[in-house]
Amino acid sequence: MSLEFRCAAVGVTDCKAATHAETADELLEKVAAHALDVHGVELNETLINYALTTVEEK
Ligand SMILES: [Zn+2]
Repeated sequence: MSLEFRCAAVGVTDCKAATHAETADELLEKVAAHALDVHGVELNETLINYALTTVEEK
């Protein structure tokens, strides 16, 4: 099982990136790094909670 997060799922429709990880902690770490590097957005608790609602288990 792995977890998948897509920027498109939270409304960033011009970003095709998908982030995968084995655990939610690892996923959030990768998503936070991506958000900052690619989108210049620092994740706060609200954004993290919203992002977690869109995470899919594959
Ligand atoms: Zn993105």
